[in-house]
Amino acid sequence: MNIALIAHDSKKQEMIAFVKKHEEFFKQHTLFATGTTGLKIMENTDLMIHRCLSGPYGGDQQIGGYVGEGKMDFVIFFRDPLTAQPHEPDINALMRVCDVHQVPLASHQKTAEFIIKTLESEGK
Ligand code: PGA
Repeated sequence: MNIALIAHDSKKQEMIAFVKKHEEFFKQHTLFATGTTGLKIMENTDLMIHRCLSGPYGGDQQIGGYVGEGKMDFVIFFRDPLTAQPHEPDINALMRVCDVHQVPLASHQKTAEFIIKTLESEGK
């Protein structure tokens, strides 16, 4: 599966801890991330990640493009709903394109946990 990882700044530590916890799962898949999220995950794990641009510079749009082309199977996007983001339109567009194509999008850790458990139980 192709999986995208994105975390807003206040959620990056949470994302790193989450990915480390599930490193065995993530190892089996092809990973993409926005620039800074991808860099920080790679610095803290042994995972290889295809890094897109940083979110505010178009990374969310790049990932949205993959979703539109049917090349992304699962998006994990730890959003910070309490802080205004300069690239809010891009974030909304990414979430919208996931809904259009029915690509699973986990916007916080608990949903991501549920989806990973389901995928593991299905042997994916
Ligand atoms: P970043 O982008 O991983 O490059 O910080 C995430 C975002 O802000 O959407």
